[in-house]
Amino acid sequence: MKPKYRNILGVAIIIAVLSMILAGAYFINRQQPQFMEYNLFMTALEEGQVESITLGDGAMLTFTLAERDGLYTTNNPRRENFKEFLLLSGVYVSENTTTDGILQIFITIALLAGLFFFIHRRANAGMSKAGGGLAPVTVQSGTEQKLCGFDNVAGNLEAKESVKDIVDYLKEPERFTRYGARMPRGILFHGKPGTGKTLMARAMAGEAGVPFYAVSGSDFVQMYVGVGAARVRDLFKKAREAGKGVIFIDEIDALGKKRSDGLNGNDEREQTLNALLTEMQGFSEGTGIVVVAATNRPDTLDEALMRPGRFDRRVEIGLPDMNARRQILALHAQDKPLSTEVDLDDLARDTVFFSGAMLEGLLNDAAIGAARRGDESIQPSDITSAYYTALAGSEKKDRSNIRERDKSITAWHEAGHALTAMLTNPENRVAKVTIIPSTSGAGGFCATIPPERMYFTKQDLRQQMMVSLAGRCAEQLCFGEDNVTTGASNDIEKATTTAMQYVTKFGMGTSLADRSLLKDTDSVAKECAALTDTIYQETLGLLQKNYNALQALAERLLDKETLDGDEVLEIVTSA
Ligand code: ADP
Ligand code: ZN
Repeated sequence: MKPKYRNILGVAIIIAVLSMILAGAYFINRQQPQFMEYNLFMTALEEGQVESITLGDGAMLTFTLAERDGLYTTNNPRRENFKEFLLLSGVYVSENTTTDGILQIFITIALLAGLFFFIHRRANAGMSKAGGGLAPVTVQSGTEQKLCGFDNVAGNLEAKESVKDIVDYLKEPERFTRYGARMPRGILFHGKPGTGKTLMARAMAGEAGVPFYAVSGSDFVQMYVGVGAARVRDLFKKAREAGKGVIFIDEIDALGKKRSDGLNGNDEREQTLNALLTEMQGFSEGTGIVVVAATNRPDTLDEALMRPGRFDRRVEIGLPDMNARRQILALHAQDKPLSTEVDLDDLARDTVFFSGAMLEGLLNDAAIGAARRGDESIQPSDITSAYYTALAGSEKKDRSNIRERDKSITAWHEAGHALTAMLTNPENRVAKVTIIPSTSGAGGFCATIPPERMYFTKQDLRQQMMVSLAGRCAEQLCFGEDNVTTGASNDIEKATTTAMQYVTKFGMGTSLADRSLLKDTDSVAKECAALTDTIYQETLGLLQKNYNALQALAERLLDKETLDGDEVLEIVTSA
C-alpha cells in the first residue's frame, strides 16, 4: 500500500469509529420516540392534543402530546403549507432542517463510506497507469482482432513457433480437448525489457481473435492486503465471462518472487500469488483461457509458479539478431517517410544489442527530428542523431554500447565451442551459435545437440570436456595467455565436474574404484586437475591445427551475430 493511501485510510477509520461512538451516545441519551399512526396523529392534532412538533425534510416528524409524556413520531406528510397549517392549529413548531439526528449520523457514515470507496477507487485507478490495472487495458475482440497479430512481431521466430499451438487451441479448444490433450494454462515469457513480450502475448490474442487482458504484477502488491487477491479473482471472472481470452501478467516476478526463508514474506504478495494459482488451477479443461506471464528475471521466480498445470511452458524472447533487427526496423519504418538515402541494413548492423523497443524508439526519435525541421522525409542525419541519443541514454541499462573488444572476445570464444563440437564428433549437431547475450547472463552461447545415447563412452566424456574448454582455448589463441577472460567460468566448472565424475563415479581414471567413496580426496583432486589440464592442451592443439576455420567462424559471428548449424558447417568446410 502506498503511504499516502495508508494515511487517508487511517483517518477514515478514526472518523468512522468516532461517529459510531457518537451514534451510540446519541441513542443512549435520547428518548426513543413512540410511533403513532398518521391518522391518529391528525385526530390528536384536531383535538388540540399536540403540543409541539419538530419538523424537517426527513421522512418522519416528532411531536409531544399535552396529556401524555414522551416523544412521538409519525410520518411527515411533507406537504406544502403544512407548517402554516400547524401554526394555525396552535401548535408550537420547531424546525430541524438537517432532518432527524439519527438520519444525520447515518448520512455521515454513508459519506465516510463513500469517501473510503472513492479513495479505494482512486487507488485502483492509480494502478492502471502504463498498461496495468484491473480493467482490461486492451480488449481485442470481434472485428478488432486483427489489430495486432504475428505480422506485428518481427523476428522472434522460435517464440512464435512455440506459441502457435496455443493460438490454435484458443481458436478451437474443443479440437484439442476431444483428444484429451492438456494445453498449458500458463506460459512464461522471459527476456530482456523491450524484446516484445507484451507484443507477443497481444499478438497471440489477436491471432486467435480472443480478448486480451493486461495487468502488471507490480501493481498488485501496492494494494491493501486482500485487494490484490480480489482483483485477481475479478480479472479471471471477467475473462471467464467473456469465454476465451489471453490474460497477460507483466512483471510476474513482483508477485512470484522466491519466498525468502518463509519469514518476512509479504502477505499481500503471497495472497495475490495464491489467488492466481488457485484461479489457474480452477480452469476446467477446454476453457480457452491462457495466462501469459512475463519477466526479465526468470531466476528469481518462486518454484511454485513452475509446477505442472501452472506456468509450465517457458519461452525465451531474446534480443533480436541482425536479421530480426532489420525486420523490426522495416516494420516500424512502414508508416514513416524515410529518405531513400537511409540504409536500414546499415542501421541493423550498427544496433547490436538493441531491443525491439529501442529500435522502435530510435526510428520514432528520428521521425520527431525530421518533423521538427519540417523536412519532407527522415534523413540519415536524423537517424544518426537518434542513434547516438539511444546509445548515450542507455549507457548503464543496456549492453548496446558493449565494447567492440568484448564482442570480439565473445565471438572467438563461441567459435571455439562450435568448431570443437564439430571436429571432435561429427554426430554433434550445432544448432545455433550466437554472440547475443541471453537473459541467463551468458555473453553468447553455442547450442550443441549431442547424439542421443543411453551410455557415454570414456571418449565421449573427454570430448565433452574439450567442447567445454574450447571457449577459453580460443580466447588464448587469439588474445594471448594473459588476456583470457572470466567469461569461461561456467565452462570450467562444467569441465571440472565431468572430470570429477570421470575419475570417481565412472572409474575411468587411474583406478577403477569410486574414490569419492574411499574418501581419497587429495589424490582425486590432483588427478582431476591433471586430467582437466591435459584435455585443455589437447583442445588447444586441435584449435591451433584448425586456426583458419576458427578465425573464419569468429569473423562471421562478429558480422552476423547468429549462425545456424548449416552456416557453421559451410564456413568450417570452406575455410
Ligand atoms: P516487453 O514486454 O518485452 O518489455 P514490449 O512488447 O512492451 O516489450 O515492446 C515494446 C515495443 O517495442 C512494442 O510495442 C513494439 O513497438 C516494439 N517491439 C519490440 N519487439 C518487437 C518485435 N519483435 N517486432 C516489432 N516490434 C517490436
Ligand atoms: Zn563458453
